[in-house]
Amino acid sequence: MTPPGHPERPERLAAALEGAAAAGAVAVVSTIAEASAVDAARTVHAASLIERLRALSDRGRGFVDTPDNPVSAGSFRAAWRAVGACVDAAAVIEAGKADIVWAAVRPPGHHARHDHAMGYCFFNNIAAAAESLLARGIGPLAIVDFDVHHGNGTQEHFYQRDDVYFVSIHQYPFFPGTGSADETGAGRGLGFTRNVPLAAGADDETYFGAVALGLDEVTRTIRPAVWLISAGFDAHQNDPLGGMRLSEPGFARIGAMIAEVSGGSPVLAVMEGGYERKALRESVRSFLDGLAGNAAP
Ligand SMILES: [Zn+2]
Repeated sequence: MTPPGHPERPERLAAALEGAAAAGAVAVVSTIAEASAVDAARTVHAASLIERLRALSDRGRGFVDTPDNPVSAGSFRAAWRAVGACVDAAAVIEAGKADIVWAAVRPPGHHARHDHAMGYCFFNNIAAAAESLLARGIGPLAIVDFDVHHGNGTQEHFYQRDDVYFVSIHQYPFFPGTGSADETGAGRGLGFTRNVPLAAGADDETYFGAVALGLDEVTRTIRPAVWLISAGFDAHQNDPLGGMRLSEPGFARIGAMIAEVSGGSPVLAVMEGGYERKALRESVRSFLDGLAGNAAP
């Protein structure tokens, strides 16, 4: 459990599940064993990061790499279960049991780098889900990140690869400092990263334009077998961290835009940020309603 006052709190998980239940969505929580989840984390991270978190968790206190990443006795378990839920979600999609899967997880993951925890993130959940799909021969993949913060860890992991197209729509300049429009990939991955930075204060209409642009770039480059979504809800107008003005119907529209562009290909949405409990619950519900085609027009 994070210390009092830390925005990334266990109650966020309840909000994510309540929102999913209200939308009637297929939500997964981890059912896989610790060893399998740790193996999945190893596809993205150095063993040293995993072992630092495990050791500090065993001690029951400390920080992994940054003061944003405090550790309690439950942190290691929470982190591997978040990865585990994403691998489970990938398995649900592979088995054809659902076309829309919501991985209601915390801690978030998109800032976590190969050997460095940061920004409340320990393990990169969505990158592990993508690796799990690719290992089963399912690709190419799109990762669309609309958390208010740039998904630097995810971008970095896939930056030189052409099997995953990464697009991030985020407040800029802002934490973590990366995500300018000229970061577009490198080597074989050149042209497989697209950043859509937005100035603080962006409203629904600005977001719709940015999301449409990002989705269009994906489909001009690849035909994704699965769309993975880093769904952060901290661009909500009431979020205490973000500086954006997205409304709850705005998240529904973003969900509907993703549903439309996916053209029936599966969508695996993974929770990232969102730090106001009611806004998080209602935004999750709206987004999933939009994704499932249930939102009011
Ligand atoms: Zn965020």
